[in-house]
Amino acid sequence: MFKGINAIEFSKRFNTNEDCYNYLLKIKWGKDYQCSRCGCKESYKGRTYYYRRCRDCSYDASVTANTVFHGIKMPILKAFHMVFRLTAKKKGMSTIELGTEVGVQQKTAWLFKRKVQAVMKKDKDDKLNGDVEVDESLIGGYSSAKGRSTETKDAMFVAVEILPDGRTGNLALQHIESFKSDELKYAIKDNVSETAQIKTDAFHSYKKLSKEMSNITISYSAKGGAMEQLHKQIMQFKNWLRGTHHQCSSEYLFAYTDEYEYRFNKRNVRKWLFNDVVVRLMNQIPHPYN
Ligand SMILES: [Zn+2]
Repeated sequence: MFKGINAIEFSKRFNTNEDCYNYLLKIKWGKDYQCSRCGCKESYKGRTYYYRRCRDCSYDASVTANTVFHGIKMPILKAFHMVFRLTAKKKGMSTIELGTEVGVQQKTAWLFKRKVQAVMKKDKDDKLNGDVEVDESLIGGYSSAKGRSTETKDAMFVAVEILPDGRTGNLALQHIESFKSDELKYAIKDNVSETAQIKTDAFHSYKKLSKEMSNITISYSAKGGAMEQLHKQIMQFKNWLRGTHHQCSSEYLFAYTDEYEYRFNKRNVRKWLFNDVVVRLMNQIPHPYN
């Protein structure tokens, strides 16, 4: 398993397409081969070194069959380089830089990055626990409209865990339609465990929600003073979006919030992310972009 964020070590380990396919072979059939068609557990050599042929039904499967790596429009080594850059760099990379560094068209880089972002999406059961601060924010747009206007901007739900020692725990971000209480209620249910103790500001949607959700406490402290860590996280997300990606259309904001959440919540295990993403790409059936 490759672990680390060192580019020289990475290039030594993955120098040819064969190095990459061998890595995928270990992930897919390292422990046990099983035919994806008939379930047979015995196989022969397939048409090339990265194919295996089933003994019973003779199905000859490539190591990338039924994985996101299947049918990518570039050599596998370039795909590995992209995963490495997207995971080893603390802030990730824009698709323009990614395309230039790896030597593919920006469109190719963009399409592949979308696949990586898709596997970064967290599990449904992965929810924030303990003390959780909840707020909402507007993203993008340069309208002079003040307050919580979603006419030219996108609404985003934000929640962070505050650990017992006061540090920030995990983070949840979600693109939402509006700041209406129902919308915020579903965002809370999707991202925060029912047993968490939630703190919010005195925005009317939360006041309304606190009547039906007993784990919500409204904080009436002066604006800005309260929920400092949460506001810091919102600023950092906005800086990341602007700094690393320059812009992000409303349509794909969900992908960027997924990516940011993944990076932030795994910030202490960065050296494992390359392998984590490769394994996820091997286990996710590719989906068409539309
Ligand atoms: Zn078979």
